[in-house]
Amino acid sequence: MSFDAEAKMQFVFALRSKGVTDTAVLTAMERIDRGAFVQGYFSDRAYEDMPLPIASGQTISQPSVVGLMTQALNIGPRDKVLEIGTGSGYQAAILSQLARRVYTVDRHRRLVREARQVFDALELTNITAFTADGSFGLPDQAPFDRIIVTAAAEDPPGPLLAQLKIGGIMVVPVGQSDAVQHLIRVTRTETGLEYDELRPVRFVPLVEGLGKD
Ligand code: SAH
Repeated sequence: MSFDAEAKMQFVFALRSKGVTDTAVLTAMERIDRGAFVQGYFSDRAYEDMPLPIASGQTISQPSVVGLMTQALNIGPRDKVLEIGTGSGYQAAILSQLARRVYTVDRHRRLVREARQVFDALELTNITAFTADGSFGLPDQAPFDRIIVTAAAEDPPGPLLAQLKIGGIMVVPVGQSDAVQHLIRVTRTETGLEYDELRPVRFVPLVEGLGKD
């Protein structure tokens, strides 16, 4: 399978049918080959709208969920964005097409190392990936215009809320790991935080501390 014109057309069609309508987001997703982020056995299925297994027992998110979360962030070209949960690096790559600068962290060293190799190969030079426990955010680079969490938390982590600029937006799946989770959008205003619930989702849990690999 290659991400040729036919594959791209079907990929974008599926995204649209799931509600991804933002032209800039669709263009970014047409430009970045998801196949570059899926290795081995499942690489044949990279262009299907489904999550797939990656290393360290994690998953690359479903493309339509990546699209809807990215769309909900409403990213501008000057924005500095933080992602918690690098995983394969696919979501970060999409963000890199829309934002000025992307920081992404994962608790698994191996995933960060492999994602960096793909970023280098695709020449995505505005992404910096770190191994860290993302529940604490990235204090050295804060504050951020946008924050996206791609693992489910029981509540939006306090340190992340604190690292959001005024006017900033954070998108985070909230809920118990095995139960229904909801995608929440938090906006920091002059006076506080506004929350809205976007849709039910299913993500791997946000786990404390660093991974074994
Ligand atoms: N955004 C990824 C998919 C993420 S899967 C992609 O596009 O492929 C969720 C990721 O969150 C996993 O890789 C997992 O290791 C990571 N994760 C879970 N808890 C974390 C934490 N506390 N800090 C950083 N990363 C975490």
